[in-house]
Amino acid sequence: ENQANTLFSSFDGEEITFFADLILPIPVPKLFTYRVPRGMADGIKIGARVIVPFGKKNGRVFTAIVARLHNTPPTGYQARYINETLDEYPLTTSYQLELFRWIADYYMCCIGEVMNVALPSGLKISSQSKVQFNPDFNYPELLTELEETLLTELKKHPALSYDEVGRLAGEGTNVAALIKSLVEKKAIIVFEEVREKYTPKMVRKIRLHRTYEEREQLLVLLQRLEKLPKQQEVVMRYLSHVPLQRTPSLNEKGLDKTILNQDDELSQSSLTTLIKNQVFETFEVIQPRFSDNGTDGLQTEIKLTDAQRTASNQIMAQFEQHNVVLLHGITGSGKTEVYIDLIQQALGSGSQVLYLLPEIALTTQIVVRLQRVFGDKMGIYHSKFSDNERVEVWKGVVSGQYQFVVGVRSAVFLPFDNLGLIIVDEEHETSYKQHDPAPRYHARDVAIMLAHWQQAKVLLGSATPSLETYYQAKQGRYGLVELFQRFGEATLPNIMLVNMQQEKKQKTLRNEFSSVLLGALEANMERKEQSILFQNRRGYSPYMQCEDCDWTAECPNCAVSLTYHQRDAELRCHYCGHKEGVPRMCPTCGSTKVKTIGFGTEKLEDQLQIFFPQSRVLRMDLDTTRAKNAYQQIIQEFEGGQVDILVGTQMITKGLDFDNVSLVGIFDADRLIHFPDFRATERAFQMITQVSGRAGRRAGRQGTVLIQTSNPQQPILQKVIDNDYKGLFKEELQERQDFNYPPFSRLIKLTVRHTDRAISHQAAERLAAELIDALGSSRVLGPEEPLVERIRNQFLFDILIKIERDKVNIKAVKTYIQDRINDILTDKGLRQVSIVADVDCL
Ligand code: ADP
Ligand code: ZN
Ligand code: ZN
Repeated sequence: ENQANTLFSSFDGEEITFFADLILPIPVPKLFTYRVPRGMADGIKIGARVIVPFGKKNGRVFTAIVARLHNTPPTGYQARYINETLDEYPLTTSYQLELFRWIADYYMCCIGEVMNVALPSGLKISSQSKVQFNPDFNYPELLTELEETLLTELKKHPALSYDEVGRLAGEGTNVAALIKSLVEKKAIIVFEEVREKYTPKMVRKIRLHRTYEEREQLLVLLQRLEKLPKQQEVVMRYLSHVPLQRTPSLNEKGLDKTILNQDDELSQSSLTTLIKNQVFETFEVIQPRFSDNGTDGLQTEIKLTDAQRTASNQIMAQFEQHNVVLLHGITGSGKTEVYIDLIQQALGSGSQVLYLLPEIALTTQIVVRLQRVFGDKMGIYHSKFSDNERVEVWKGVVSGQYQFVVGVRSAVFLPFDNLGLIIVDEEHETSYKQHDPAPRYHARDVAIMLAHWQQAKVLLGSATPSLETYYQAKQGRYGLVELFQRFGEATLPNIMLVNMQQEKKQKTLRNEFSSVLLGALEANMERKEQSILFQNRRGYSPYMQCEDCDWTAECPNCAVSLTYHQRDAELRCHYCGHKEGVPRMCPTCGSTKVKTIGFGTEKLEDQLQIFFPQSRVLRMDLDTTRAKNAYQQIIQEFEGGQVDILVGTQMITKGLDFDNVSLVGIFDADRLIHFPDFRATERAFQMITQVSGRAGRRAGRQGTVLIQTSNPQQPILQKVIDNDYKGLFKEELQERQDFNYPPFSRLIKLTVRHTDRAISHQAAERLAAELIDALGSSRVLGPEEPLVERIRNQFLFDILIKIERDKVNIKAVKTYIQDRINDILTDKGLRQVSIVADVDCL
């Protein structure tokens, strides 16, 4: 009968077989061909999700996306049938499929890996093994006592999961063995239950029974209730919210039960009676997870300053000639206001808008600001959102509910089909690049491609643009608009260097704090102004060491020292998550002189409490912001003004806007500058400038920034003081050119991993040699051990490939690299080596 199913008529009567090429969310570099069952042929659409069986294991199923429909059978294997379709209307657009393909090609990964990351997991299916009573069972004498009890329970339920069986069977039961035995006795059946993970949120509502929608009936009812005043009151209360005569359709929507209860017992029981007597009926509706506040009270009039108006007009003019424009605007210049103006224009012309922000900035003030203008028309897409919430944003884009979405990097995967404008705020931010898992994409660059296909414009904004972007602008490939005036009368802060060598000599240093900084903090508190302290390292201290034998606490799985976390009294590895207790004495020599070296945010917080016992200090770093609303809470508290000092890692550098911050202190600037990476200077400049930009954002007092350094002569510090981005750009660019680094070349980093160092090294050596053969030794660096050469017990070797822009066919190079990688991966002598390619690595 299968035969009959595969053949059906096309409209002209010819018998044909339909096949679908599908994207499956697995790391295999191809599409998979499946048969379309006859009954599905009319409904199946490109971009829709389907459920398919996969692999040898029975019952294993995947969510797949239809990429192509055709009638050519696959060669070499018998195509299996698609089980079912999930979407009547495709949830992905043709643009997205094109984007998936491009990302897979460009970032050297599989299209299935792209799909897997792109699609919120709520849109995928989950399958769960369940057990069911077998109605044909008739040998009860074979059962043990426990099995018999369980079977009695099972008969009461349509199906149970293994967990539920375990709970019924009692603690300590071997559930798998129990189920196996019951299956062998043919008492139960095991099957896979497949369902979409997304579950809409349902609420129970109340409405007047249809009978009483008729005015006459209602009047009769009210009369009848005269003797039951409490019940009558409840009905009246309902009618005061849903005035029946004028808008009968309102009754359809119903009311929340709580509105009628009003928390008093009498009305509660009256309501129950009214429901029982079928005056009211209850029903369930889907409740959107994002509140529907309407559009009242929105502030749609934006008053731009003259400088902002000029910038906005210039951007629009530049868009005439360029698809991408860079807005180079200093911190506090009000770039957000310019964005809002442009977003309104784009939405006004009927197109969609995407506004990308780095993770942290998005959770806070900017969203509040945007919501005030765009209200519920704006979707928010954030990684701290639940699966269900993300699905609702996704569906909202498909349905047209959200014409405008503000989101983090993964928002580039939303199903837009009519984009007019994409804004990438803080475009220099490294968090736009995904590291793990694949696809290792850069959201800014993906956004530019996305815009290209949909003929949308891209605005990149930053006070400290990435060298790559600024270079493109200077080359005339991107438009460039500058905004070098702070909003209002505010000016850029006064940046000063504190010479730590000198403080040490004069013995004025108190632990990590210079006397200059302590004095400034104290004066600031007296003025009731707030301060921000920046140290780009979390925990209490990065090292623990024995004074007698030099033993240091190291991670057993990684080649790094363990960080001491005082608050939780733990040593932690920041690479693999390993945790252990704090040793009371040296495990090597038994000495009790175990000390901490270096300092992180936790130590600063601790010290501040000693220096200023009256002060209120908050800390913002990865450790204090794990909970869903932790950022907002910290920021709101700081905004509320009860807090004197905010200590944090680079999290506090991103887009925060506080009225009352007039002092910023920067610790360990030297470590930022001397980080062993060719981008260190650029990064340090960006980080210091951004965090400095948090000070003095309001007219009145100029802000102060104090940078603690042991080497005040470093040229980069003078550029920070002078806010000399252009000077930095010029010098850095020269160096990049001399050594052929981006923007003059593209980088691909290959990382080879294996638990055996020798095998890892051997594979890396071979790969490098083959690449040097084809590309020449000037383009291939390594293999080299990275800074941390062992992570999670895997030994790492890096190979860096530099490919000149424009001169070399980069696509061919990537294909060649991928082929060499595949050779090694299939070499039996190099079993289990893993090789990761990171294109445009940062
Ligand atoms: P940037 O992103 O360039 O650092 P913001 O957009 O955060 O700067 O603006 C700095 C502050 O100035 C914000 O509090 C913002 O609300 C305020 N601001 C900027 N422009 C205007 C304007 N035209 N009208 C009112 N407030 C403005
Ligand atoms: Zn020791
Ligand atoms: Zn570790």
